[in-house]
Amino acid sequence: MGPGILGPMTRLILATRNTGKITELRSILTDAGLPHELVGADAYPDIPDVRETGVTFAENALLKAHALARATGLPAVADDSGLCVDVLNGAPGIFSARWSGTHGDDKANLDLLLAQLADIEPPHRAAHFACAAALALPDGTERVVEGHLKGTLRHTPSGTGGFGYDPILQPEGETRTCAELTAAEKNAISHRGKAFRALVPAVRDLLG
Ligand code: IMP
Repeated sequence: MGPGILGPMTRLILATRNTGKITELRSILTDAGLPHELVGADAYPDIPDVRETGVTFAENALLKAHALARATGLPAVADDSGLCVDVLNGAPGIFSARWSGTHGDDKANLDLLLAQLADIEPPHRAAHFACAAALALPDGTERVVEGHLKGTLRHTPSGTGGFGYDPILQPEGETRTCAELTAAEKNAISHRGKAFRALVPAVRDLLG
């Protein structure tokens, strides 16, 4: 990749192996007119996974971004997300992926949450998805932003799209759950889309 009229194209690495996330961030960077080449963590298979020891989404996103930037020498982006339920004082929060005890068991996590909220009526079923997106440079410079998707929790799951808690979160102003939206509809309003878009000025400031 030689230098172009805008100077050398910067390679940015995203701390995920999820191709959906890579495609989403790539299209956000392209829409913003940023020329950076975005690769996923798969491009560097020897990099060890980072322990998520932070207690907020922002801390965990920063931990992952700094570790990847240090290991690769490239500017790195990482995100961390979860579901925050008002009546549970923000839980499952950073524990969203392992709420039932088993990391990544989406059905068990969702079933446990529904059982816990069984007696809670609609006016008190407010919740939001939250996502922190962090950018870290190899020299330790960092930026972190957040995006939210607010809604209410259904009593029973509905829809087959998406993942995680999508079948029970009905976004504000919607009659469908996130699992009933198309991927494009969800990306347009999602916490992750908002966080990635909010990170664009930081990418522009720090990387040009
Ligand atoms: P991660 O930050 O991508 O690892 O997501 C953490 C966990 O939060 C996931 O395992 C899901 O349980 C939940 N979560 C995060 N974003 C979403 C979403 O957009 N829909 C449904 N569940 C989500």
